[in-house]
Amino acid sequence: MYFDRTFTLLIPALLLSMYAQWKISSTFKRYSFVHNMKGYTGADVARTILNSNGLYDVQIEVVNGHLTDHYDPRTRVVRLSQEIYYGTSVASIGVASHEVGHAIQHATNYYPLSFRNAIVPIANLGSNASWILFAAGMFFGGRGLGYMLIQLGILLFIGAVVFQLATLPVEFNASSRALRILRDRNILVGDELNGAKKVLTSAAMTYVAAAAMAVSQLLRLILIFQRRDD
Ligand SMILES: [Zn+2]
Repeated sequence: MYFDRTFTLLIPALLLSMYAQWKISSTFKRYSFVHNMKGYTGADVARTILNSNGLYDVQIEVVNGHLTDHYDPRTRVVRLSQEIYYGTSVASIGVASHEVGHAIQHATNYYPLSFRNAIVPIANLGSNASWILFAAGMFFGGRGLGYMLIQLGILLFIGAVVFQLATLPVEFNASSRALRILRDRNILVGDELNGAKKVLTSAAMTYVAAAAMAVSQLLRLILIFQRRDD
């Protein structure tokens, strides 16, 4: 069964994903106990940074869940989970300012973000339909119609991989913006800044792991496709 042997291709990315998950949860936990000296909450800092960038109309809302924080470009809302919104930890401040970093990217038409948002529909279609097309193609023996289905499946999956790769500069840039603002505006000082940096760096690693997984899966699809005659 070649299907099983190609699975080993995914092992490095799987290990990286597990490490990244462990790293973000342990780092986040550690710095959620370190409170910033000035006593700001994540919501305070988000509002301050938004206003100082002229983004008075970008709203901040509370969202349920753990690490569910995000910026929604369609409604121009920064959504922060409870522990980030109300929290005064260095982790809360780091995450809140990272999400505001995305709002600033959006407002300033940061190209990698526009590109990533533009390919969201293709990426969603790709990650859902590509495996079905691929499996159907293999079922038809990989020739004629089957060959076309497999090629279409791989093409769609490439869209999903491009999305994962395009996410990386967007995430790294949002974090570096956030840390620069926190330092320049003296919101966090000294070791607090280091803590926020560690939280954001380990969060970024989960995106690196997701991208590595997507690339590995693409390689696996191509390998299965090439070996279909074995
Ligand atoms: Zn982000």
